[in-house]
Amino acid sequence: MLGMMQDWEMRVSALLDFAASEQPEREIVTHWADGSLTRTNWRGIRHDALRMVQALRRLGIYPESRVATLAMNHAHHLTAWFGVTGAGCVLHTINPRLFDDQLDFIVNHARDRVLLYDAAFQPIVDRMKSRWPTIEHFICFDSDEHCPAFEDWIGAEDGKAFWSTGDEHQPCMLCYTSGTTGNPKGVLYSNRSNVLHTLTMIAPACLAIEPRSCVLPVVPMFHANNWGLPWACAATGAKMVYSQVNDPDVLCRLMREEQVSHVGGVPTVWFSLFQHLDETGVELPPIRVALSGGSAVPASVVERLMRGGVRVMQAWGMTETSPIATVTWEPPEWDTMTFEEQVAYKSSQGRQVCGSQVRIVSLDDSGVEMPHDGTSAGALQVRGPWTIRRYFGEKDDATGSGQWFDTGDVATISPAGVLRLTDRTKDVIKSGGEWISSVELENAAVSHPDVLEAAAIGVPHPRWTERPVLVVVRRPGSALSPEELLGFLSGRVARWWLPDAVEFVRSIPHTGTGKISKKDLREIFCDYRLPA
Ligand code: ADP
Repeated sequence: MLGMMQDWEMRVSALLDFAASEQPEREIVTHWADGSLTRTNWRGIRHDALRMVQALRRLGIYPESRVATLAMNHAHHLTAWFGVTGAGCVLHTINPRLFDDQLDFIVNHARDRVLLYDAAFQPIVDRMKSRWPTIEHFICFDSDEHCPAFEDWIGAEDGKAFWSTGDEHQPCMLCYTSGTTGNPKGVLYSNRSNVLHTLTMIAPACLAIEPRSCVLPVVPMFHANNWGLPWACAATGAKMVYSQVNDPDVLCRLMREEQVSHVGGVPTVWFSLFQHLDETGVELPPIRVALSGGSAVPASVVERLMRGGVRVMQAWGMTETSPIATVTWEPPEWDTMTFEEQVAYKSSQGRQVCGSQVRIVSLDDSGVEMPHDGTSAGALQVRGPWTIRRYFGEKDDATGSGQWFDTGDVATISPAGVLRLTDRTKDVIKSGGEWISSVELENAAVSHPDVLEAAAIGVPHPRWTERPVLVVVRRPGSALSPEELLGFLSGRVARWWLPDAVEFVRSIPHTGTGKISKKDLREIFCDYRLPA
């Protein structure tokens, strides 16, 4: 027997229909690279997205074709999110910071047929065009110098069209992970997975995005389903603010002038924001919610945000989990917790959201489930309706639901269910048969006021297999010595975790998504000799 409720396919176009019907005037503001500001609203985005549906159909771009974007955050890009998916096509957001070989690989692997790009990325297009034979049409978002301009292209249409309809399991979006080893891998989201992810995201226990919210996604639109923010804003008709420049001065001004309530960004966004506030003496704008993810946010940053009255929502997830899987929702005892306890909890990776389950299994490949005791570390696995089943192009062996996805992260889970990431499986430092968490070493180091950034890597050791070396970027003008920093760390981490050496460097390499690249760092330190 089946339930007898209506079949209503969950498609992302319905989210935009809601926004345009309930909050047609709610604005989408773009701060462009040249400093100019433009405003449209949800009614305008829907009209333009429908015109884009017509323009795609006119080009013969049929449903399920891949349409790529190579663009920063702006309202035209948002239109393309809904135009492409509304035509039943698959939106492939490309990270312009990838290397040429990766750009070559993903466009050909996705078989992209159309590319919409920012004029700023014309050099990439010129360089890569001959290596991208599948692309039939190039459209530029903001110039008509080399190909049709977006506004002219959709300007020929009247918007009297309908969204593509069909099974909610049909794909709507494709994102490639940066692939620290091997080629990038494609994650193909379905309409259904994105709508379900959206419904959880906007809930009070998650981000509490609501019709009166104003959201500034600093996270780039090509990163991990853009953390689900465009879908969540459409589902509530929230106001959106985009900035093409991530200068903290501009971001602060936008937060204040546009009355931003929610900001989503990686920890470096918060670092540079506070650095800017310290330098200028300006106060933290009155935002309500700070969504932080992508890498661990240090307790010092959490504390400062909380002292500014901000609800810190650290989330853990990955491209493969749409991305939100856990978040620091407040438990019932929240109001009786001390401020220090609250900061400590908000500095964790939080607890599973309804619709996403996590567990840890033994690191030794036996697959034995590890206890949730807050100290046993294990390989983190996740499952749920917005977790990946297979990578794009991989054979689907239809094992059905209920399988666990290996995240490549290492974590502990407390009896209450609080997740703490201790490492990536590739980055754990194995010393004398025990595991040292590089992440905990780094977190302890960056809580020193003179440390701007820190990364711990394992280097070979004849007796202990590996020992940690801490690579540190000091605050400009600081004379912090290795001995002082080690003294600061002792008492904060176990004695045998203390790094064998501290190396001060000018900068630490980052990946295309702005995370510390341990792979590059290990290469730089491949000949490193520990002090005797
Ligand atoms: P990429 O792998 O391309 O950098 P992802 O966004 O998919 O992009 O990266 C996911 C990884 O980022 C996670 O597996 C985890 O290691 C890390 N990560 C995400 N959120 C957090 C967080 N809140 N704290 C610590 N690490 C995080």
